[in-house]
Amino acid sequence: MPASLSVCLICGDSNWEELVDPHPSRSVTTAGRILSEALGKSQCRSCGAAQRVRSSMLAFTDYYETDYANYYERPGTEIFHKQRYAAIWKWVRESAEIKEPKRILDVGCGQGWLMDIMRETFPGALIEGIEPSRYNVNKAREKGHRVHEGRLEHIASTLEPFDLVISTNVFQHVSHPLDFLTELSMLTAETGMTVLTCPDGTRPNIELLWADQNLSLTPANLRSLASRALPASTNSLIYQSEDHSASLPPALLMISGRLGGKVQDDFDCGIDVLLRGRQKYLSSFCVIDDFLSEQVKESGNVVNLGASYWTSILAAYCPNYWSKVQFCCVDEPKDQTDFLDKPVMRTADVPESACIVLGITPESQQNVAHSLAKKFSLVCSWGHLLSPS
Ligand SMILES: [Zn+2]
Repeated sequence: MPASLSVCLICGDSNWEELVDPHPSRSVTTAGRILSEALGKSQCRSCGAAQRVRSSMLAFTDYYETDYANYYERPGTEIFHKQRYAAIWKWVRESAEIKEPKRILDVGCGQGWLMDIMRETFPGALIEGIEPSRYNVNKAREKGHRVHEGRLEHIASTLEPFDLVISTNVFQHVSHPLDFLTELSMLTAETGMTVLTCPDGTRPNIELLWADQNLSLTPANLRSLASRALPASTNSLIYQSEDHSASLPPALLMISGRLGGKVQDDFDCGIDVLLRGRQKYLSSFCVIDDFLSEQVKESGNVVNLGASYWTSILAAYCPNYWSKVQFCCVDEPKDQTDFLDKPVMRTADVPESACIVLGITPESQQNVAHSLAKKFSLVCSWGHLLSPS
């Protein structure tokens, strides 16, 4: 098995434009592991897909089986994921007319958050999941879900067709998207529906920064794959999320099935616009590192607020700033005592003299900074330096 792929997984071309690495020798996974290799993504000159071609592809390792579950094991993540999957399900239901399915399959079901919600919506349906992480499988089974442990490619042939096959935010991780979509389609009954969500590759956002997200896809990329993977008797509709929040960052939703010949207008942006947006976003981190290092240089007590996704991004891509951090703080650490190489304390216990840096999502920094300024003399946000997504 190759450790990386230099051929575009969407169009088969191998003509790449290198994207800026946010750091020359560091990257980070969604599970919060810092890797000592560059992010290494490039954009295909032919189809605009971004792919991790200059560094190893984690889908070729046992990362999803052994490490990915850490993604779900951070303070506050249970509430975060419940809200996230509720938002995704609401979006799916508003976009697709799903008629009382008897059999539902959730591919990459994690700990069963979406299955929990689907079970409430369709209490009479048989719902099954596929998940590679044994830890996640056990967590989902503890809630009474029926889950097959492994990857789709190893399990698909053992299953009967389903009325609804859904896969949320898995597609960007896979090493062979065309095969993956073909397998989803083969598991979908003739009159059934295949539903897929993934980050919206036309609007640079946090997904572009993760080393384990192999692909950033555009609506045109999805359409191209669907035309090859799905039967001619079906058609696909693709939607872009509009109301962005921490629960629903910029995303694409593809619904495929016998949709009565419905068609929609294209809404792709040009490949050059795509490239400029991605380069601007990725090059922001050098500026952010310099800015934060300058902001905190006089302080003897630098505390990073947060111990989750955006904090791990800062730790990986702003190492000069991160070296100045003494603690991370969160509202309720529960049993979390450290995050990466920093101890974690309660925000309420941080002394007023500390310099607070917001290691949280850029969208919420303004409000949080405003509220923290009542207690702390120096609160640093940096979201304004990240080019808008
Ligand atoms: Zn391509």
